[in-house]
Amino acid sequence: MKKKELMEQVSKNVINCKGCRLYQEAKNSVPGEGNPESNLAFIGEAPGAVEDETGRPFVGRAGKLLENLLGRIGYKREDVWVGNIIKHRPPGNRDPMPDEIRACAPYLDLQLRIMAPLLVVTLGRFAMNYFYKEGKISTNKGQLIKTDKYHIYPVYHPAAGLRNPTMLRSLEGDFLKIPAVLEDIQKGGSRFAIENDLEINVTDLERIGQDLENISIEFGNVSIRFNQAIDSFSIYKLVSLIKYLLIYLGILNIMFILNGIMFLILKR
Ligand code: SF4
Repeated sequence: MKKKELMEQVSKNVINCKGCRLYQEAKNSVPGEGNPESNLAFIGEAPGAVEDETGRPFVGRAGKLLENLLGRIGYKREDVWVGNIIKHRPPGNRDPMPDEIRACAPYLDLQLRIMAPLLVVTLGRFAMNYFYKEGKISTNKGQLIKTDKYHIYPVYHPAAGLRNPTMLRSLEGDFLKIPAVLEDIQKGGSRFAIENDLEINVTDLERIGQDLENISIEFGNVSIRFNQAIDSFSIYKLVSLIKYLLIYLGILNIMFILNGIMFLILKR
């Protein structure tokens, strides 16, 4: 299969995905778009409001700035690939939760394996830390980092550039270095540790959706199936419930003891 067809198949899986709670409130999924043959992939955190409306990544004001910056290094938006780690918008643009990131990770992983870009430009702190946990955006922006799988190049998020003129200048400066960074990688030899595994087939792609949708636990003959998204969120709710129950029982106990004391006093 060609890269384009494989990427389309991943997008179809994303559109039908119920792997975490985020699909419930989102209007559209945002699988990512662009040229899968490109040397460059730009990865942000998650869709915002305009992206949720349109189903396309980076189409708001931040997207306009991204297009402008790409133009300054000789690229059109459609020359590169643009996407996010999380494919459905977190409500109110909150930070994605760890279980949501875990649930969504196979999609980006597969997209990058299909594309095998020379360079992954991470947009903002969150995207950088997804690939490089120890990274600090103020220190590592504009540096080429070789992780175990990818060459990544962190820059500030365009939205941060829109809010802060100093960050905008930094973002512009780091963007202008991208052609030289690419050239360096090309001179340095092969595509660093990115698997260009085009043996991926439709069955693999279909399995991702199923794996994400259900986890089952077996107790003898009984099989309990539950959604992966249940884990941390529901455990948090359960712990809160137990906490309030204990407080309630504690209050009941105190009232019981007080009643006993009152009874003893009145009896005298
Ligand atoms: S795992 Fe990703 S694609 Fe699936 S529902 Fe969650 S955010 Fe959407």
